[in-house]
Amino acid sequence: MRVGVHTSIAGGVENAVDHARRIGCDTFQMFSANPRGWKAADPEPEACERFRRARAAYGQNPVAVHANYLLNLASAQPVIRRMSIAAFRRELGRALALGADYVVIHPGSARGGEAASARAALVDSLAEAARDLPLNGLQILVENTAGQGSALGRRLEEVAEILAAAKGLPVGACVDTAHLFAAGYPIHTPEGLEETLRALDQTVGLRNVRLIHANDSKSAFGSRVDRHEHIGKGWIGKEAFGRLVRHPQLASLPFICETPVDRPGDDRRNLRMMRALAAGGPAGFPALPHRRSKIGSRCSA
Ligand SMILES: [Zn+2]
Ligand SMILES: [Zn+2]
Repeated sequence: MRVGVHTSIAGGVENAVDHARRIGCDTFQMFSANPRGWKAADPEPEACERFRRARAAYGQNPVAVHANYLLNLASAQPVIRRMSIAAFRRELGRALALGADYVVIHPGSARGGEAASARAALVDSLAEAARDLPLNGLQILVENTAGQGSALGRRLEEVAEILAAAKGLPVGACVDTAHLFAAGYPIHTPEGLEETLRALDQTVGLRNVRLIHANDSKSAFGSRVDRHEHIGKGWIGKEAFGRLVRHPQLASLPFICETPVDRPGDDRRNLRMMRALAAGGPAGFPALPHRRSKIGSRCSA
């Protein structure tokens, strides 16, 4: 099993790889700049070089960059869409400079427009942002969403449609467990997990899934509310997470937790929980005291 967390770039991009190694990640995800600003400064070339060297030395694989939350490549508003395309082109440039394997994006929102034209706009935006960039193996992963508001990507059919329309680009899928659950895919029951994996294979295709975002859910089944919880502490629960991480169709994929950090050590505890579940259950694993999280989702749709 390859497991990791979303790590912070506070103090410089190379801190993300150091932190990932220190807490025992095999793989990790990061932002490449401030995820909530349009005018994010790019990391210095020397910092990217240090990052690439450290990442290779520590054997962290794969490395995913999560795109800025403000992007809406599917927007019906020309100004927002233009800004999103320019910002995403810079995302791709930073991911290339860092030698990342994946850039994860949310499909965006159809707010003020039809879902079908929003999907078409997204695909055009991706092509425009990537135009003439040598992507050198970098892949763009479209993430399924909880379907909050008018967010695209709640249904796996819709993610599949986007991937099919963008097939001229190096695209794949990132599957977020909390988003699946909140979107109404019953991954918390044994039959529901099988049913969901069948649906995933028939739509997106399991061969196109590159990465799992392993998050428990703080919001209820089918709520369409995107709020992440510590592994085993949310509505999906420990037992269901055990089935998920041990499932033969998923076990070879990298798992990255985007779980809250409410107090120091939470990332390490979630990693330990993932490994304990992969090894057959959390037996002997000390129970965490139940507590309320102050910080919600790190991956809002
Ligand atoms: Zn996610
Ligand atoms: Zn996300």
